[in-house]
Amino acid sequence: MINTVAIIGAGPAGIAAAIQCHRQGIDFLLFEQAHLGGLLNNANLVENYPGFPKGISGRSLVEKFSFQLNDLAVPIIKEKVTQVDFSDNAFSIRTDSETHTAQFLILATGTIPIKSDLTFPNSLQEQVFFEISEILKATGKQIVIVGAGDAAFDYALNLADQNQVIILNRSNNIKCLALLLERANAHQNIKYLENTRVTAVEKTATGQIEVVCSGSGDNTSIQADYLIFAIGRIPNDICLSPKLRAEKDQMIEQGYLYLVGDLANGRYRQTAIAVADGIRAAMQINTMLSDE
Ligand SMILES: Cc1cc2nc3c(=O)[nH]c(=O)nc-3n(C[C@H](O)[C@H](O)[C@H](O)COP(=O)(O)OP(=O)(O)OC[C@H]3O[C@@H](n4cnc5c(N)ncnc54)[C@H](O)[C@@H]3O)c2cc1C
Repeated sequence: MINTVAIIGAGPAGIAAAIQCHRQGIDFLLFEQAHLGGLLNNANLVENYPGFPKGISGRSLVEKFSFQLNDLAVPIIKEKVTQVDFSDNAFSIRTDSETHTAQFLILATGTIPIKSDLTFPNSLQEQVFFEISEILKATGKQIVIVGAGDAAFDYALNLADQNQVIILNRSNNIKCLALLLERANAHQNIKYLENTRVTAVEKTATGQIEVVCSGSGDNTSIQADYLIFAIGRIPNDICLSPKLRAEKDQMIEQGYLYLVGDLANGRYRQTAIAVADGIRAAMQINTMLSDE
């Protein structure tokens, strides 16, 4: 059976697309490889999503999204989509267990972190992170964050109430919102070091991370329990087959393929924008179906 819509990714964009498809009475499949809510699970305080005058934590907003999906009885296929192709007027969406087909595809797969080009011992893999949702409950830890954008400062603010945090910026150029910087500067558990570049990551005899840095003429070394890289993110369309990637623009033009949310929004990666994208894609599909 060919489904009408397949939505890949259940972050804010995919969730909004699913809610809108449901509202329009269009059948759909929603795939999620990890946690419902996607990157939003990392956000400390979302202050620009209308309806929450005092802001809301990313986690709490995801809980509300999740509640709404449950209430609508929207099923989620909890699998990674490994490859998407298009032939015979249908998308084929492959997971490890099955291949599904759909007439329209909404790709809401967000972004993936830029990995550091430093090499670290394999035994440190569980202490080095590129997002923080898995360590939000950490307490009493020494945490080093590498980066100088919104994510680095937001991660620091999220973790600093229960831990000691050091932010390392390789230059003196800060790229985050002024209010995040102000809050970080005012937080007694956050230390910010600029012109400090990480040159090596090693493991100490006690199992901690030794972050070796150079900067301002000095070499220093910082011991940490966790090391987080927040050095940028890139669009994640890796599940598209090479053939489909080559035909992507044409498929978008024809109204069969929709790239929504952070995946498609360059530097304008925000929850409300992702939600709006998801709703618009579902509405455009509805228009296509009505015109058929
Ligand atoms: C630290 C931080 C703070 C933030 N603060 C704010 C804020 O204050 N205000 C605001 O508006 N926004 C904020 N954001 C941004 C917000 O989180 C994103 O804009 C939003 O999550 C984007 O939604 P999305 O659905 O496009 O992508 P994502 O949230 O990235 O979701 C993509 C989903 O797709 C899934 N996926 C990917 N590939 C596959 C596959 N092959 N198969 C199945 N599933 C797949 C992923 O697991 C993920 O769940 C913040 C982000 C961060 C990191």
